[in-house]
Amino acid sequence: MRTRITNIREIVTPVCPDVAVGTDMDKLTVYTDSDIILSNGIIESIVPRNRHEPPINRVLDAENAVVIPAFVDPHTHMVFGGTREDEFNLRIQGEKYMEIAAMGGGINSTVRATRNENEDTLFEHALQNLHDMIAYGTATFEIKSGYGLDTETELKQLRVIKRLQKSQSVDIKATFLGAHEIPPEFRDRKEDYIKLLCEKMLPAVKEQGIAEYCDIFCETGVFDIEESRRILNRAKELGFKLRVHADELTPLGGGELAAELGAASADHLVHVTRAGIDKMVQAGVVFDMLPGTTFFLMSDHFAPAGDILAANGILALSTDFNPGSSYTHSMPMVITLACLKMGLTIEQSINAATINGAYSLGLQDKTGSIHKGKQADLTFLDAPSYKFLVYNFGVNRVSAVMKKGEFIFQKS
Ligand SMILES: [Zn+2]
Repeated sequence: MRTRITNIREIVTPVCPDVAVGTDMDKLTVYTDSDIILSNGIIESIVPRNRHEPPINRVLDAENAVVIPAFVDPHTHMVFGGTREDEFNLRIQGEKYMEIAAMGGGINSTVRATRNENEDTLFEHALQNLHDMIAYGTATFEIKSGYGLDTETELKQLRVIKRLQKSQSVDIKATFLGAHEIPPEFRDRKEDYIKLLCEKMLPAVKEQGIAEYCDIFCETGVFDIEESRRILNRAKELGFKLRVHADELTPLGGGELAAELGAASADHLVHVTRAGIDKMVQAGVVFDMLPGTTFFLMSDHFAPAGDILAANGILALSTDFNPGSSYTHSMPMVITLACLKMGLTIEQSINAATINGAYSLGLQDKTGSIHKGKQADLTFLDAPSYKFLVYNFGVNRVSAVMKKGEFIFQKS
């Protein structure tokens, strides 16, 4: 079946179909007076508007929208019980995280709620969040476990991710994040929890085949470099690919560790060192930036995106959607923050939110740009130009989202 998408104001795509790095990061290709031809949900070509292209089975009117690749979000924590708006309200009034944690709040409250929630309810909540994120233009996701911190609940979260993968047409990559925090029952015996992770949880997840990646919160007071290396090496030995929450709150060296172990990405990197940047560039590890988290935690210290770009690092953007430190479904919001707070240009931020996210998940052959042979994963913007994504801040200009050639969201 061949489809022609017509009446498009502009078609905007990363220049290179694989990854945007170096000067490619500064560019986007913009087509005007052009249509997109799809064949069975796959992009076949971009043709001049008046060129005849038979046979066409279906014509879709884009209603003069700007068409960009659907966003790829390579870092979310979408499956969780409960929300933490009361804690947020205390936090913005000056309450410190440690005091909130002492009152039973913080990540432990999400762990309690996730352990207590049954699998069907957890799935329904996650599905609602997924649809909310799609409505902001995202059609490819990574989702982590990490609010169970015991074998049973971590597997429950991963089964929910599996159900999302099976029931929804969006692409989803699953990540096991059992090393997100030390659970309360292991507070004074971290070594026992590391043993549980390495000897029981990781093999159990592997056996079920329900996670492609293993991630860890490598941070002062959580898992130090040596502990992270042990856990990640064990994961690697079992065949997991790696991602790392690195250098978010302190310059511990998570970026260097990600490079040493050949991780797919290191994420956050607010405090990544010069040496960390260089090693990650050399090893080809993606720098996944999460400016929504820094913003939501009310810090003015953002990740050094300028240094990373100057070093030719591969820069991606994510929402980090989670109930504690980044409760947003909106990739456009993250793009706006990347420009206003990290100094990215609009072109750099769109490359980071599309092709480089796809590259980070190993999906660059399928999605992330508008090139021949890729899935028609497209986001339609009701806007005069793609620049309105940042310029018209705080407003959702997404009018429709297409996945593999079919609409999965249309604004009513
Ligand atoms: Zn995270």
